[in-house]
Amino acid sequence: MSKKIIIAIDGYSSTGKSTVARQLAKSLGYIYVDTGAMYRSVTLYAMQKGYIDQSHFDKEALEKSLPLIRIRFEVNPVNGLAEVILNGVNVEKEIRRLDVSRLVSLVAAVSLVRKKLVEQQQLMGSDKGIVMDGRDIGTVVFPDAELKLFMTATAKDRAERRYKELLDRGEQVTYEDVLKNVVNRDHIDSTRKDSPLKKAKKAITIDNSNLTLIEQFDHIFTIAQQAIKKINT
Ligand code: C5P
Repeated sequence: MSKKIIIAIDGYSSTGKSTVARQLAKSLGYIYVDTGAMYRSVTLYAMQKGYIDQSHFDKEALEKSLPLIRIRFEVNPVNGLAEVILNGVNVEKEIRRLDVSRLVSLVAAVSLVRKKLVEQQQLMGSDKGIVMDGRDIGTVVFPDAELKLFMTATAKDRAERRYKELLDRGEQVTYEDVLKNVVNRDHIDSTRKDSPLKKAKKAITIDNSNLTLIEQFDHIFTIAQQAIKKINT
């Protein structure tokens, strides 16, 4: 039987990491894990408990309640997609809201939050055959991943993509707000002390500013097949 690999996909906000990671996992018969959904779920929990809002963040209260937060993924039988379950409740839609996006990078900068989620992510990948996307997958979660990709595109292209997604979901947002959020998150994510977003050693950069979704997928699928062939010869 062909040996499976770990594919780590990192990059800036709204570069389309999840779309390509999901497609790739489906084509290879691998498991897909959206680690952003896990950080978003912890953020939603903190918002629900009143630990964080635009003007304050009770980091200690969140740290203390970390053992009470249970996050898992469950496949939706209707669309076949893995959706995130927070303490038994499906929060897949809620975690994508802009108010969650505005706070998630603050929560993701907390070391104890990262420690908890990284441990869970490493367990999920212990049998390989996984495509995981996030900000620190190739640098921290799986530094020995057989294939690492680093995705980037201009802030304008990324904000346009996210703006359309939010409008399609019925959120009332302005393009300027979305652009501001994308730039702000990139700044916090790349400058935080613990596991900042950066290109991992040996990662292949994919700049998709001028690629269609199909071109991008074909390119990445070819790279993945080569990486799988390499460890099987
Ligand atoms: O991927 P997504 O945009 O949903 O991620 C939301 C946020 O979660 C990021 O902006 C970042 O602050 C945090 N994150 C992280 N490490 C990961 C995945 C996401 O810090 N591996």
